[in-house]
Amino acid sequence: MNFWEEKSLDDMSDSEWEALCDGCARCCLIKLEDEDTGQIVTSDVHCKLMDTNDCSCTQYMDRQKLVPDCIKLTPQNVREIKWMPVTCAYRRLLEGKGLAWWHPLVSGTTETVHQAGISVKDRAVNEELVGEDEWEDHIVGWPEFDPTAEPEGDE
Ligand code: SF4
Ligand code: SF4
Repeated sequence: MNFWEEKSLDDMSDSEWEALCDGCARCCLIKLEDEDTGQIVTSDVHCKLMDTNDCSCTQYMDRQKLVPDCIKLTPQNVREIKWMPVTCAYRRLLEGKGLAWWHPLVSGTTETVHQAGISVKDRAVNEELVGEDEWEDHIVGWPEFDPTAEPEGDE
């Protein structure tokens, strides 16, 4: 049995925890809060440290020093953060859905997260290219879909 099928999030080692991230970088998008409703909305503006080639963090070890807003996910806070996408591997495990076909631990390749349309690759713009006063214009409705069916021909 795979570790993510037999262990709870709380019981995972650091390396197992890190391996669970599918690399979608949806959590690296800038969020805005509606002052009236408190609702959190997501933009298509990504953190300046995100590598647009593969959606990885270019300064992962120092990320919180360089980007104070960057949230280090833990088994505790991942339960409380409401804006995590439904596709996020941590959220899926918490909801008992398991890892989907596109997850690199299942597919064996980091490419499937992009092929499934889960990642922000080619869909977001670097924050250094967008003034803060323009972020509101970049609010987008990221699809909260769950493509559980693997596309034909990808097997
Ligand atoms: S949304 Fe979840 S799976 Fe995607 S990059 Fe963030 S932590 Fe990883
Ligand atoms: S610092 Fe890295 S992990 Fe944090 S939001 Fe930016 S790109 Fe993502």
